[in-house]
Amino acid sequence: MDENPALPIKLLVVEDGSAGGETLGDSLGRVDPGDLEVAGAASIAEALSKLEHGSFHGTLLDLAVTGDEGLDALASLRTAAPDVPVIVMAEPGRAQLALDAIRHGAQDSFVRGESSLRAIARMIRNGVERHAMMAELFRSREREHFLATHDSLTGLVNRLEFHQLLRSCLARAVRSREPFALFFVGLDRFKKINATLGRRAGDEVLQQVAERLTASMRTSDVVARVGSDEFMVMLPTVTRDHGPARAAQALLEKLAEPYRVAERKCWVTASIGIAVFPRDGKKADVLIRNGETAMYAAKAGGANRYHYYAEYMNKVTLDRLEAEKRLRTAIEREEFCLHFQPQIDVAAGGIAGAEVLLRWQDPDRGLVGPGEIIPIAEETGLIIPIGEWVLRAACEHAVRWSRRRGRDLQLAVNVSSRQLAQKGFADVVARILDETGLEASRLDVEITESCILETGGLTMASLKSLRRLGVRISIDDFGTGYSSLVALKHLPVDELKIDRAFIRNLTSDEADAAISKALVAMAKGCGLKAIAEGVETRDQMRFLYANGCSHMQGYLFSKPLAADALTSHLESEDPPWNAPLEDLPV
Ligand code: C2E
Ligand code: MG
Ligand code: MG
Repeated sequence: MDENPALPIKLLVVEDGSAGGETLGDSLGRVDPGDLEVAGAASIAEALSKLEHGSFHGTLLDLAVTGDEGLDALASLRTAAPDVPVIVMAEPGRAQLALDAIRHGAQDSFVRGESSLRAIARMIRNGVERHAMMAELFRSREREHFLATHDSLTGLVNRLEFHQLLRSCLARAVRSREPFALFFVGLDRFKKINATLGRRAGDEVLQQVAERLTASMRTSDVVARVGSDEFMVMLPTVTRDHGPARAAQALLEKLAEPYRVAERKCWVTASIGIAVFPRDGKKADVLIRNGETAMYAAKAGGANRYHYYAEYMNKVTLDRLEAEKRLRTAIEREEFCLHFQPQIDVAAGGIAGAEVLLRWQDPDRGLVGPGEIIPIAEETGLIIPIGEWVLRAACEHAVRWSRRRGRDLQLAVNVSSRQLAQKGFADVVARILDETGLEASRLDVEITESCILETGGLTMASLKSLRRLGVRISIDDFGTGYSSLVALKHLPVDELKIDRAFIRNLTSDEADAAISKALVAMAKGCGLKAIAEGVETRDQMRFLYANGCSHMQGYLFSKPLAADALTSHLESEDPPWNAPLEDLPV
């Protein structure tokens, strides 16, 4: 019915007209013909039928029509047409019944014979209007409540409401001792969708995700959107055929189907963390936190999968998350810098190049070495942007040194296996060389021996493309990875760096001496340059030199230096790496 009824008000009068004469309905119809348009019903059954087929602003019910003068008739009318207000007339002497009627949902009531026709007509008009106002108020309250408890983009329950529902579910579960499950659902790499297809398409995907989530779960399950690309699902009852694992797997499959947005197909997967009451928490915030931790475990396990929460995860995952967060901030705040360790050509008597080593100027802890950066960066994939930054910054330094000081240094940059296995890595290097203006032959890419052994086709393709560009390839920590000599022969490599482990005891351990000698000979035999790392003493230097290895790097000559320090040494007449060289046999 309309909120604000226009005149005339259509009134259904339910009264017994069998006694003959003018009925109340007839009389009312005459009082204000422009204001009231009256239809009559002689029984409740007839009234119900008319209410169903016609549209009325109000009903006037003579309680005497039912014979027993009870309030059942009122209840039937209210149930059949809850939007149509009912005004009730009681028989003389039944004032109490008239009052009771109001308590049972009548809009107003009066006793026959106590009010004038005009007063009754006014009561009806006011009653209908009051009802319309109340209905509107109720609707806007409902709307407000909906907006406050739901996410405006997807229409799903929001975080606040989800907490509320979760708490009620918890209270029930505590009483019934029945388990229930909570899913923490995070979309995988959703930012990429926003970045490539735009925000609007991203929003559409989120709406479709919400629809699939709702469609895949049972009506008794609650689905909420709790972050930009995060959702939570509560399964108040878990049974054998609606167990968390099975439901999560079905959900993953549904979500992984292609999405059609802006005339394009795209794919989004999700990672689901599962926490089960009471095993994984007895409080709402603990369950949610543990669900989230499990979700991160699912992401770390390769995404597009579900993972149950397990006690041990918390510390490990939280530490890792914290570390990852710090690294991300470090990138944003440009807190990384490079140090350079000179590589000495002992035969030529001077510096030939430098190895580039990553450092993090952490505002809290000072200078942090790569041991704390690289493993997390590799695990999280942050090594890709960090590695690219290292390459670019290194090339820029090299170009600056050759322009300003006229020193053409060979720069060795460490590259992790994850970078090499990335499609198009050689193109990234080519672009950086092009943009910085460094000649390809002045760049050495250091990769560890194990990296070559453990990875597949893409790595080999990257190495070959790098080589075609003219970049040199160096195997780092050589001797520790058990490369077969046959493999070595077929690898696109220019240089072997003999690992510090063999150099350390060179002069005291006969086996290490023999291995180092053999490694140098092998490099030579394969037409590769040999360089020894971690040279700390003059004895080590002399031994290596005597056995045909003239390129060395180590604390004996110099520790890794900040760019400025290396610049001033390059300008100096007597750089620190010259002193040990005086000790060589001529
Ligand atoms: P690495 O490539 O084998 O680098 C040599 C490491 O040995 C450096 O440690 C260097 O400071 C240290 N070192 C050099 N001479 C001596 C010496 O005479 N005695 C001793 N005891 N140590 C010496 P650092 O800077 O801590 O780097 C550790 C490792 O981190 C590097 O080993 C390299 O594998 C990795 N790394 C460094 N920078 C990067 C980078 O930008 N990207 C990647 N992927 N890895 C990097
Ligand atoms: Mg290295
Ligand atoms: Mg090394």
